[in-house]
Amino acid sequence: MLKFNYHSHTDYCDGFSVAEEMIKSAIEKGLCYYGVSSHAPLPFDTNWTMKYKNLNRYIDEIQQLKRKYKEKITILAGLEIDYLPDLESVFIKDELTSGIDYIIGSVHFLGKLKNSVRWTVDYDKNEFEKGITESFDGDTKSAVKTYYRLIGDMAEELKPDIIAHLDLIKKNNSGNYFFDEREPWYIESVRNCLKRISGTGSIIEINTGGVARGYMTEFYPSDLILREVLDMKIPVTISSDAHKTEDVAFGFDDAVLKLEDMGFEKINYLSENGWQETDIRSLKWQKK
Ligand SMILES: [Zn+2]
Ligand SMILES: [Zn+2]
Repeated sequence: MLKFNYHSHTDYCDGFSVAEEMIKSAIEKGLCYYGVSSHAPLPFDTNWTMKYKNLNRYIDEIQQLKRKYKEKITILAGLEIDYLPDLESVFIKDELTSGIDYIIGSVHFLGKLKNSVRWTVDYDKNEFEKGITESFDGDTKSAVKTYYRLIGDMAEELKPDIIAHLDLIKKNNSGNYFFDEREPWYIESVRNCLKRISGTGSIIEINTGGVARGYMTEFYPSDLILREVLDMKIPVTISSDAHKTEDVAFGFDDAVLKLEDMGFEKINYLSENGWQETDIRSLKWQKK
């Protein structure tokens, strides 16, 4: 079976294992392609992104592992880059990506608190509530619309190979606590965002990581969004956003079945020769 995952973390960022352990797990689980994509350094400190001084060591290490395991698996070097519009992330991208095979674009940061500290949409319910109060005057709708506008901006400016966890903003919204994902304004925001993505060639991932880590019952993005993705013919891939060895290919088979059930016919994977598209129905029987 053709199995792959390009969204994965290591102890260079907030992952729990070294890159080599993650790769060994990928080999054990029968993956043909495995991409390492630690959180790229940011122009300020966090406890979940790579330190800038470690970037070259990270790239060298992946290149070395690529050679070491080349008979068993194709390894690719990636980075998950946060889009920060006020910090010229396009410039940051150029600076970061020599020696990198692909980039994953993410929006985690949505605004600044009163003390100027940036807050992320995926930390916890309290921070989400505080962020909306302090940077959007309590207007949840405006915060959510801004989130999807930023994803569209990121697709157009950063031009990532993969767009990460498209509806990450739902992470703290279980039971529609902050907003209703079925309401027309929400669907419209998503649709506008997808229209912008569809003109860029970026691939949307079906991200199983929230389910793997036990805080979500459905993958990112939701079925409702996936139907729009299908209608707009935006390319898709499957990622597990693994932070530990056991999650390296979490939910891959379920995601394949889901996409097939929904009517997706093609799936995208990155090989040593660049991005390839294959028939999703043949995926289950294909050998490397
Ligand atoms: Zn992420
Ligand atoms: Zn990630």
